[in-house]
Amino acid sequence: MPLPDRYGHFGEFGGRFVPETLMSVLAELEKIFYSLRKDRGFQKEFHHYLQEYAGRPTRLYHAERLSKGLKTLKIYLKREDLLHTGAHKINNTLGQILVARRMGKSRIIAETGAGQHGVATATVAALFGLRCDVYMGSQDMKRQALNVFRMKLLGARVIEVKSGSQTLKDAMNEAIRDWVTNVRDTFYIIGSVAGPHPYPVMVRNFQSVIGQEARKQFLAREGRLPDYLVACVGGGSNAMGLFHPFFGDRSVQMIGVEAAGLGLSTGQHSAAIARGKPGVLHGSKSQLLQDADGQVRVAHSIAAGLDYPGVGPEHAYYQSIGRAQYVAVNDAQAMKGLKLLAATEGIIPALESAHAIAYLEKLAHRVRRPSRVIVCLSGRGDKDVGTIKDLLD
Ligand SMILES: *Cc1c(COP(=O)(O)O)cnc(C)c1O
Repeated sequence: MPLPDRYGHFGEFGGRFVPETLMSVLAELEKIFYSLRKDRGFQKEFHHYLQEYAGRPTRLYHAERLSKGLKTLKIYLKREDLLHTGAHKINNTLGQILVARRMGKSRIIAETGAGQHGVATATVAALFGLRCDVYMGSQDMKRQALNVFRMKLLGARVIEVKSGSQTLKDAMNEAIRDWVTNVRDTFYIIGSVAGPHPYPVMVRNFQSVIGQEARKQFLAREGRLPDYLVACVGGGSNAMGLFHPFFGDRSVQMIGVEAAGLGLSTGQHSAAIARGKPGVLHGSKSQLLQDADGQVRVAHSIAAGLDYPGVGPEHAYYQSIGRAQYVAVNDAQAMKGLKLLAATEGIIPALESAHAIAYLEKLAHRVRRPSRVIVCLSGRGDKDVGTIKDLLD
């Protein structure tokens, strides 16, 4: 049976845990999304913007010098960092805003942590001339002042969220609250494979273009399938986008890399799968960082985009059935990964993507025979240069 089932369940995870007022709009969104999935005109329009505006297909680049240093691995990078706005997020925001247009909505809202999803949303809202309000925690607004400025330049309004930990999860709560009040004219663009059904399947569907392209490109280059797929996992959209098209390819092993922050034993990390327990956050059930009382814990990672206490329900499911394996890389290791890619390939990755790069060293020691790997390079590092400089100073 294809997953999710008709209730949005991936095994025991997923579902739709929302206020009554949102049930009917989610049911409507679900119906429209499933019909657009088979709608030739819609698919053509989506791929038109992916190609002409975002810059797809992205390259599958053989990283020779990186591979040589790691000896047992032949590494290919899926270059999502080359897309417009610098990361994979544009795939999803383009898809969702086209759905919003089909539904006749005139206003877009979004939540953002690092500001990356906010910028990608403000970008497509400007592209189609729709009003756009982005919720962002005060803490994050301070840490990511440049992205706040970018969103404003793009014509979006950034709404400061002062509640709770003043970060992503609080911004998401406020966005849901806004949506409850304004469902008639407002479309909520969620930034990862999280949220109530149908968001996890919808975002996965839009991001699957990553894996579909990579699968074809790899087969053309190597005449066979890769042994490993490696991607960083925040909410899990770039990883699921790469993994999903390979789901049925049993020989392909999938590795999701979570952020171990200051270390898994310190409690200061974002490893929802490694250290979480099943719970409900933002409308769906998944693995979630919680304290002994079941309160959601504040996540930490050097990479703002991985700094989320939950993870998409489909990843929790992949882990539960053993289809993917989840590992964790800490802040210091991620910095090393970033420097390694910069020095060997002349590519400065986003700190998020640097987690996936950093894991390659461990993987190189783990494999029994030479192996071929696709790594999702989810974004470029320009946005992180300030953080990196502060750290090195
Ligand atoms: C937002 C972001 C991530 C994390 O989000 P996922 O949904 O887990 O993909 C990873 N890399 C970059 C560059 C990002 O901007």
